[in-house]
Amino acid sequence: MRHQPGCIFCHIVRGEAPCHRVHEDAHTLAFMDLFPAEEGHVLVVTKDHYPTLYEAPVESLRRVMGVARRIAPALRDVVKPAGLRVVQLNGEAAGQTVFHYHLHLIPCGPGGEMRVHGRAQGEAGRLAELASAIAARVEPDGGAPPRG
Ligand code: 5GP
Ligand code: ZN
Repeated sequence: MRHQPGCIFCHIVRGEAPCHRVHEDAHTLAFMDLFPAEEGHVLVVTKDHYPTLYEAPVESLRRVMGVARRIAPALRDVVKPAGLRVVQLNGEAAGQTVFHYHLHLIPCGPGGEMRVHGRAQGEAGRLAELASAIAARVEPDGGAPPRG
């Protein structure tokens, strides 16, 4: 596993820092964003450390998007948002703050400003509740096609 000392997402991937886990396989990990921009904000990260899209191999990107595609309907079932934003920032100028490749899944209401970063830390009990409710609804890989 490629890892970068001092990288918070590498610590989470290695189990050295906590997270509210939504999904895990050999190559990816999905967990609740600690500072949700919206209720149900999930991050999908590669287990290997790649700072941005530019370094990540296409196969890793495919795996992340494949997992995002399976989490999305589960997230929709739980949060019932009007819409879902899938966002990925590259470089400080784009607003990236953690330089370990990740995709944001951000449920949203109708209208309103588009936010990627939350202002406050999510309440631990609520993050745990959301993580387990979403996790319970993620279809197995190669399982039934997502509804809707
Ligand atoms: P970026 O700005 O790099 O696209 O997004 C990084 C995201 O990681 C932010 O939305 C931020 O709230 C989230 N984040 C930063 N540190 C942690 C952490 O320790 N745990 C979790 N779960 N999320 C984090
Ligand atoms: Zn890392």
